Amino acid sequence: MSKQVDALIVGAGPTGLALGLGLLAQGKRVLIVEKHPDGLDFSRAILVNADTLHALAPFGVSAPIREAGIAVDGFSLHVNGRVVSQARYVVDPQDLTHPVCLPQLHTEKILSDRFLQNGGEIIRGYVFKPD
Ligand SMILES: Cc1cc2nc3c(=O)[nH]c(=O)nc-3n(C[C@H](O)[C@H](O)[C@H](O)COP(=O)(O)OP(=O)(O)OC[C@H]3O[C@@H](n4cnc5c(N)ncnc54)[C@H](O)[C@@H]3O)c2cc1C
Repeated sequence: MSKQVDALIVGAGPTGLALGLGLLAQGKRVLIVEKHPDGLDFSRAILVNADTLHALAPFGVSAPIREAGIAVDGFSLHVNGRVVSQARYVVDPQDLTHPVCLPQLHTEKILSDRFLQNGGEIIRGYVFKPD
């Protein structure tokens, strides 16, 4: 198999997909290879931070992330009905952007859908092995 691209990205996680969106915005031809054929079937991250939303805004993915998730200003950890830990997120009073609660699988779907819409290509089930 042979492909002519400007950038080859290894890994269709949030970093690779965000990098791919940035390179597509610069007019580059981008190919992402991902070793998992269908992606992971569980989420690690549950929170998209406000700074991440700002960084992704130019690529048109912040709005769908906000629509799909729930804006939060803190969390409580409950064990057997008792609150054992609580935290509040500091929200910048200048822009009032709250972190968004959204499982990583959903965030990655939004990123990969936009990457493909913008002309990128993803080959899944391919393990990159440097020589
Ligand atoms: C329990 C937990 C909770 C978390 N909660 C949060 C949170 O709330 N908010 C937050 O912002 N972050 C959170 N994180 C961190 C977040 O999950 C990571 O920062 C994020 O997944 C990193 O993305 P990445 O693209 O750099 O790496 P990854 O998500 O690991 O993606 C790398 C990809 O590269 C692929 N790959 C690797 N090697 C190859 C190869 N040789 N060939 C082809 N493909 C390859 C892998 O299959 C993988 O899909 C959490 C992490 C954990 C573990």
